[in-house]
Amino acid sequence: MLSQGRAAVFEEPIGPAGVRIRERPRTRPSQGAVAVAVRAASINHLDLWLAHGAQRITPPRVIAADGVGIVHESGDPAWKPGDEVVIFPTLCDWECEWCRAGENVRCPHFGVLGEHSDGTACELIHVDARNVFRKPAGLTWEEAAAFPLTFLTAWRMLNTRAQLRADETVLVIGAGAGVAVAAIQIAKHIGARVFVTSRSEAKRARALELGAEAAFDSAGFSKAVRAATTDGVDVVFEHVGPATLDESMRSLAMGGRIVTCGSTSGVKAEITMPRLFFRHASLLGSTMGNASEFEALLKAIDRGLRPVVDSVYPLDEVQAALTRLDAAEQFGKVVLTI
Ligand SMILES: [Zn+2]
Repeated sequence: MLSQGRAAVFEEPIGPAGVRIRERPRTRPSQGAVAVAVRAASINHLDLWLAHGAQRITPPRVIAADGVGIVHESGDPAWKPGDEVVIFPTLCDWECEWCRAGENVRCPHFGVLGEHSDGTACELIHVDARNVFRKPAGLTWEEAAAFPLTFLTAWRMLNTRAQLRADETVLVIGAGAGVAVAAIQIAKHIGARVFVTSRSEAKRARALELGAEAAFDSAGFSKAVRAATTDGVDVVFEHVGPATLDESMRSLAMGGRIVTCGSTSGVKAEITMPRLFFRHASLLGSTMGNASEFEALLKAIDRGLRPVVDSVYPLDEVQAALTRLDAAEQFGKVVLTI
């Protein structure tokens, strides 16, 4: 992945101020690569961790995993200049046994665009043609930039890993985060009953607008969850970790599943073992998603699934965009227009 033209570059691990706009040289795409003129990108917590120096990535690095734009020049016959495209943010070698079996997330060369390579917050990006998909026609550029990483992650978590069904209940923890908002949308799309938690009253109200049946304060939420359901929920959607995991496990129904993609409150958590085995519970991990899951997600978007855009900033104001994410004020995705 080659990021070119004006780009938001992580240069110093000092938070949002360490991400600066720089000019990168422009080149022509090699064979098998597509040059995409980026119209919009969006940022994730990954970019913040990068900016704060928590990811052990050596700068400089162009940030952002999510990008949409117009094919500028193509080194692959599948795409031609003018095509409107969205970038699949999982990096892999496409050649190993896992990739050939469709399991890109298990590739030994697995990575995330904008973390393990330069990212989408730039004017022009060269990507492997296999990472290029058609942009959903019904979405604006800003909306289309708002879904790839969070919706792909939440899609795999709920569909592939937790196998959430229409007749089940799901509890989404920390409802303002991009991945949690994606989970609410996808769970509603599946047809499940959705409950959420958030510390913020405003975010609880937004989650109810999106179709959550009830929204609980984060403090000791399992009591409220058990009162609102007969025996707890079938699936808990986790990304917070130690601060909420015990309450998440207390919220589970018999045979319930906790599925997690992150641990924003720390890396070590304690589990009360009997809650796991007596209740026949499952604890499931998940990261990003496969190309086939991205395609299934694109089809669901064509059938009406919609991302939520929190706010839009021009590329030049990337520091303000990162600061908004840093303050955890957002509900949905913070988008950059280019
Ligand atoms: Zn591979």
